[in-house]
Amino acid sequence: MNEDLYALLGVDKDASGDEIKKAYRELARKYHPDANPDDDEAEKKFKEIAMAYEVLSDESRRRQYDQFGLTNGRGNAGFPGNGGVQDIFEAFFGSGSPFGGSNFTSGVSNAGADIEVAIEISLEEVVLGGESTFSIRIPLACGICEGTGSESGDSEACQTCEGQGQVQRVRQSVLGQIMSTAVCPTCKGHRTMIVDPCSVCDGNGVTESEEKFTIEIVKGVDTGVTQRLSGLGPAGTRGGARGDIHARYVVQDHERFQRSGENLLEQLWIPVTQAALGAAIEYETIDTTETLTIPAGTKTGDRFRFRGLGVPKLQRRGRGDLIVEVVVDTPTDLSKLSAELLEQLAIDRDETTLISTKRKRKRRI
Ligand SMILES: [Zn+2]
Ligand SMILES: [Zn+2]
Repeated sequence: MNEDLYALLGVDKDASGDEIKKAYRELARKYHPDANPDDDEAEKKFKEIAMAYEVLSDESRRRQYDQFGLTNGRGNAGFPGNGGVQDIFEAFFGSGSPFGGSNFTSGVSNAGADIEVAIEISLEEVVLGGESTFSIRIPLACGICEGTGSESGDSEACQTCEGQGQVQRVRQSVLGQIMSTAVCPTCKGHRTMIVDPCSVCDGNGVTESEEKFTIEIVKGVDTGVTQRLSGLGPAGTRGGARGDIHARYVVQDHERFQRSGENLLEQLWIPVTQAALGAAIEYETIDTTETLTIPAGTKTGDRFRFRGLGVPKLQRRGRGDLIVEVVVDTPTDLSKLSAELLEQLAIDRDETTLISTKRKRKRRI
C-alpha cells in the first residue's frame, strides 16, 4: 500500500488537524462500502484512508510517523492489526458495518461451529479406497427438549429488542449521526426468551454426546487433504444449524513404499548374483503380484517401472506408476564354498585380490 499517509488523505505535510479531518470525511464518504457495494478496490481504499486517519489524527502518533515513518511493533506509529482496523471502523460506523462483528444479515448467530478431525489411513487405503470410522464428542441437540432449550416449548418475545432479534444504535461520529444495527445482546438474536429453560441443557438446546461417523475414503488423497462433512458437526444452540466436520487425512508411512505425488517408489535390494546373471522375481505391488524381470548386468540405481500401479489420481482417472529402484547387495556372510567360488570368479576375470596400497608420490604442482 501507499505508505505516504498524507498522500492517502490528499493533504500537505503541514495540514492542520481540521484539514485532515475534513479530507478524511470526504474520502470516507466517497469510498464507504455502503456507497460502493461489492467493490473490493473501494473497500481497500477505504481501509487505507481509515488507517491513515487513525495515525494522523492522533498528535503523538503523527509526530512519530513524521519522524520515523511507518514501523511495526508496539508503541509507534505503525498501522494497527486487523483488530485495530475493525475498532476504528466500528468507532465510526457501528458494528453493523461490513467489517463489524455482526453477522446478523446472514441469520441468527447460533449456528454450530466447524471442527477438524484427523483421519489416519494407510497407503493401502489411499490406493484401494475403503471406509474409515471415527467417534467424537460434540454438542448435539438436547434429546429432552429436542433442541428448543425449553421444558414446555413455551417462549416469549424478547423485551430488549421487542422480538426483532436486533437493536438499533445511534452514534455520533466525525461523519455525523450514524445508525447501525446489532444483534440483540439479551436474546442473542433468537427474538424470543425461554420461559422455562430445559433442566438437562440449561436452556441451550444442546448437550455433549458421542457420535460415530463413517466416511468413504477418497482414493488418491494425501496428508493434509480435507473432506467436508457438511452439516454433521456440532449443533448450534436452541435449534441452530449444525456446523461442518473437516476430516483431515493423515497418511501413515509405509514399510516398503515411499510416495512421490502419484508415484510409488521402492528400493529393492537384490543379491549380486541376480544382478549379474539376471532374474525373474515375483513382485508384490499394493494390489497385484507382478513378475519383475531383472536383466543380466543390472546395476545399483537401475529403475524398473510398473505403469498404472501407483497412487490413483485424485478426482481424475488413472493411477501413477510404481517404480522399483535396485540396490545390489554385496554378500557379507560368505560360506567357505561361496568364498572359493568368488575367488574362482576373480581368477577367471583376471581380477586380482592382492592390491598394493603403495602409491607413487604425487608430484607437486
Ligand atoms: Zn434440553
Ligand atoms: Zn432480543
